[in-house]
Amino acid sequence: MRAQEKARPVLILLGPPGAGKGTQARRLEERHGLVQLSTGDMLRAAVAAGTEAGRAAKAVMEVGGLVSDEIVLDILADRLTEADVQEGVILDGFPRTTVQAEALDVMLAEHGERVTGAISMDVDDAAMVSRIAGRFTCGACGEGYHDSFKPTVVEGVCDACGGTEMKRRADDKAETVAARLEAYHAQTAPLIDYYAERRLLDRVDAMGEIDAVTAALSAKVERMREPA
Ligand SMILES: [Zn+2]
Repeated sequence: MRAQEKARPVLILLGPPGAGKGTQARRLEERHGLVQLSTGDMLRAAVAAGTEAGRAAKAVMEVGGLVSDEIVLDILADRLTEADVQEGVILDGFPRTTVQAEALDVMLAEHGERVTGAISMDVDDAAMVSRIAGRFTCGACGEGYHDSFKPTVVEGVCDACGGTEMKRRADDKAETVAARLEAYHAQTAPLIDYYAERRLLDRVDAMGEIDAVTAALSAKVERMREPA
């Protein structure tokens, strides 16, 4: 790689369910030409295309086995050579463990690349629980409400249609949301440490306005694009 050539961003975006990771990843795709690579999508595409790694993955899946990290990395390495991802990628679903993160570093190094940054979309757990757990919708027209942030004018009556049957998703119960966040933190903490130790970690407050979060993420992606 020439000294002046800019490195392609290889971004790891970490965030718990409800942090808006999907929305922000789509915005980074639109604004920066990054392509989000989900492990599941890449696997399916490689199997369908019948590449060497795809055939290896298919053989494992056919007997109900788990596709090894080695196969996933082979598929990712192939994917990174394709024309549409030359502006950079956001990795989604891989790595999930420090062992995978180390293997990813080795694979990228073999191709003269590296992880250019990991961004943790940080949330305030208690605020996240009340944000999600307070949501409800009108069963008749689907209008969305929130106990604290957007209550109905008359309790139990939809402002939009006058309907009186309000629905709450079982997944949105406070205990369920809290348990999801706890599982996320337990799984992700080692990865966050891994990238922090390598000075690759940035943190973004994901509790802010959606546009402000995008701006913060965009600034970090721009920095990754600067020549090393
Ligand atoms: Zn309604």
